[in-house]
Amino acid sequence: MSDPTSEALYLVDAYRKRFEAEVVSAREEEVVLTRTAFYPSGGGQPADTGVLSLPDGGTVRVVDVQKTGEGILHRLDRTSTLAPGDRVTGEIDWARRSAHMRYHTALHILSGVVYRQVGSGITGNQIAAERARMDFSIPGFDRALAESFVEGVNQVVGERRPVTVRFLSRAEALKDPTLVRVAQELMPDVETVRLIDIEGFDVQADGGTHVANTAEVGLARLERIENKGARNKRLYLTLDAPIPAPVDSTH
Ligand SMILES: [Zn+2]
Repeated sequence: MSDPTSEALYLVDAYRKRFEAEVVSAREEEVVLTRTAFYPSGGGQPADTGVLSLPDGGTVRVVDVQKTGEGILHRLDRTSTLAPGDRVTGEIDWARRSAHMRYHTALHILSGVVYRQVGSGITGNQIAAERARMDFSIPGFDRALAESFVEGVNQVVGERRPVTVRFLSRAEALKDPTLVRVAQELMPDVETVRLIDIEGFDVQADGGTHVANTAEVGLARLERIENKGARNKRLYLTLDAPIPAPVDSTH
């Protein structure tokens, strides 16, 4: 999970929009930085886009981000003259990223609901800024079942459950009866596991970005289902705006 070259700021603080960093390496339209808030595509979540402000006062757009053996690689919309040691300021496109965080968290809730209702059968997922998709191989999957999944999601959204991120050694995770399932699914060579905990509801290990409370997800709507064969059913959901914070009644 840790990167030899680039510190992944998004793993610790998903709400970080701006950061400063130094260039590790650069060639043509590619640059690797000492640290970054730009999420590289992975786990069904698309890469961030945004802007790098350059030492000469100019800016360049970040159009794609990928994890590579050299570090987290930012792909730019043009060739830059950046060189190792140059200082840059990065700013991610927040509207797009915050939508990814809401849809990503919605899929965590959905997978918890599916696990409770039918014992799982999830085969894949994909997040975008305007919808998310989950794939199933569930016998008898139909619109009524999909509606009941979405109803389950909205219940958890309305419960305003905190969503926290913590890092745990694999040995510690294996000792916790509630985490054994998560820990056993991990690759044996992973020493530290990053846990996404929807308080009192669901724990999963992954490297994506999530909102801090299920109310921020907003209510989900079933957009459509697709039947792509006996073992391949798809559920598309869209989200309403986040649920506003309650008015503080103590004042
Ligand atoms: Zn996640």
